[in-house]
Amino acid sequence: MPVEAARDLASLRARVAGWRRAGLRIGLVPTMGALHEGHLALVRRALDLADRCVVSIFVNPTQFAPTEDLDRYPRDESGDLALLERAGAQLAWIPATEVMYPPGGSTWVTVEGVAEGLEAETRPHFFRGVATVCAKLFGQVGADLAVFGEKDYQQLLVVRRLVLDLAIPTEIVAYPTVREPDGLAMSSRNRYLDPAERQTAASLYGVLRATASELADGCPAEPPLAAARQRLLAAGFDDVDYVALRDAHDLRPLEHANGRPARLLAAARLGATRLIDNVAVGAA
Ligand code: AMP
Repeated sequence: MPVEAARDLASLRARVAGWRRAGLRIGLVPTMGALHEGHLALVRRALDLADRCVVSIFVNPTQFAPTEDLDRYPRDESGDLALLERAGAQLAWIPATEVMYPPGGSTWVTVEGVAEGLEAETRPHFFRGVATVCAKLFGQVGADLAVFGEKDYQQLLVVRRLVLDLAIPTEIVAYPTVREPDGLAMSSRNRYLDPAERQTAASLYGVLRATASELADGCPAEPPLAAARQRLLAAGFDDVDYVALRDAHDLRPLEHANGRPARLLAAARLGATRLIDNVAVGAA
């Protein structure tokens, strides 16, 4: 079945209403396009859990700062539609910016707590943009469930908080990070990397894994975290924004992994590209 593209709210709602009348369960996968195998794994998961899958493709301007890569963010709509068709998605929701942000719009969604620190430290605008666009997407699509990647772990927790606090009736489903054979987390931004940077990039996952296994025995976190930062710089990263041990549920800073589910998260820069990744610590 060819994947259909909806570009206005009336067509999206008509299609979804028809599925609802037929008693079908609807899954949503929000994306910014430039799709890769990680996104497609989310689509397949949605189709395991629901009868129909809507994939939104929208490069959300409000989650980019003026200094960031909004203008050069990769866009490939026809490639994306071909991949979605192969993955079996039924509908691509591709709104124009004016559809997502109607003129005069003045409503924003701000999440506190889990949306503070880590990514928000270097990207203070980011989660307001993410939470606002996700609230809009949930309202537009009215899906039973939405699948998000653990690749963006803090974002996943922000979205969980958002649907709980606003009583949005869409279940949030997490999906593990899909990686390249050398461990690099798949990301639309990986295509910015030149061959030398691409080689360095893979060490992010290696360093996170090694550090997570050191932390798993409950030792004080600071020395392994400082060593991880040094190892990333030695591997060729230009800067390390953070390497942090956090509670896996509320992202509270941890001084050691004490048997509670914990997560090790990092962000580092390679030239003009900023990469993030995270791994579970212990049995989390
Ligand atoms: P993006 O298009 O980068 O905004 O990502 C859209 C969704 O795909 C988010 O829920 C991401 O967490 C998820 N995603 C991106 N990369 C991966 C990956 N390598 N593995 C699993 N999920 C991913």
